[in-house]
Amino acid sequence: MGIIKPLPDLLISQIAAGEVVERPASVLKELLENSLDAGATRIDVQLEEGGVRLIRVVDDGGGIAPDDLPLALARHATSKIASLADLEQVGSYGFRGEALASIASVARVSITSRHASQSHAHRLRSDADKAEPAALAGGTVIEVADLYFNTPARRKFLKTEATEFAHCDEVMRRMALARPDVAFTLAHNGSAKRRLASADFSRRARDIIGEDFFPHARPLDATAGPLRLSGLAALPAYSRSGRDEQYFFVNGRFVRDKLLTHAARQAWADILHGARHPAYVLFLELDPAGVDVNVHPAKTEVRFRDARGIHQFVFHALQRTLATPLSSAESREEA
Ligand code: ADP
Ligand code: MG
Repeated sequence: MGIIKPLPDLLISQIAAGEVVERPASVLKELLENSLDAGATRIDVQLEEGGVRLIRVVDDGGGIAPDDLPLALARHATSKIASLADLEQVGSYGFRGEALASIASVARVSITSRHASQSHAHRLRSDADKAEPAALAGGTVIEVADLYFNTPARRKFLKTEATEFAHCDEVMRRMALARPDVAFTLAHNGSAKRRLASADFSRRARDIIGEDFFPHARPLDATAGPLRLSGLAALPAYSRSGRDEQYFFVNGRFVRDKLLTHAARQAWADILHGARHPAYVLFLELDPAGVDVNVHPAKTEVRFRDARGIHQFVFHALQRTLATPLSSAESREEA
């Protein structure tokens, strides 16, 4: 008799959850991405107890049809890609069809949604097997309650309520910077923390980074063939030691990438001394086929096909921007 056995489905999802659902903020990130993928123009977030007790995300996106509700919670089920070719050109935040299933394996999830084609809404709870009629004017409400209620070992790794909230707020800041066109609100334990109207990037950046960033920030918009780098880069006068205001987005996705960070650090190296940090909000855009986002389930890591070319482009665009007097900081390079 063999000793190798297939794992039960719930356990498979709980193992997968280890990678995606590190803390309440990672749940929030997945839910916000789903709302944006659904075309939401307004997203309201309510948290209780740092998001451990409750994360509620309300959006005005396209909604989920009743027949699709069980599939939304199923593992490896997605509306976003259907083939390897789709994956290589993927423009949505999601594509793994894994997040909601993983979250539902370690928390109590409820999805209420009204698809545009439906006369009323339906609700499905992760512990029920059938959706029931519900009241909702449109869009989707996802509630994630009691994170790690069934996995106490994971629960022990959570930090204080204030720390978990701070991580959630940071996720909101990143999304808000990436999508200034979308209105966001954030409330914690019933009190309003952020209220962001739909705006242009400059207005949104002021709301998120703060007014004092701007006198020292230079706008940039550089292109080279299919590559584009735009955003704001601040001079040393702004940067303070200890506080990192460093945001890199690749095709709209916040990333932590050694190559990009290194290129930025080098560009600042001449003018930045000691322990001070560069401050920037930068958007790199390129052909989706030139970057692999399927490196880690959380997708904050990427791999570039032409790593050297990207490094040089980012370094030179930043170096030029930082060397230009403030009034004419916009640089453009056509390749
Ligand atoms: P993925 O985003 O990788 O497809 P998820 O597990 O995050 O996987 O979501 C599964 C599916 O549920 C999505 O493909 C989408 O069709 C649907 N879905 C999830 N959240 C929403 C939402 N807020 N609005 C509309 N559809 C949603
Ligand atoms: Mg998703």
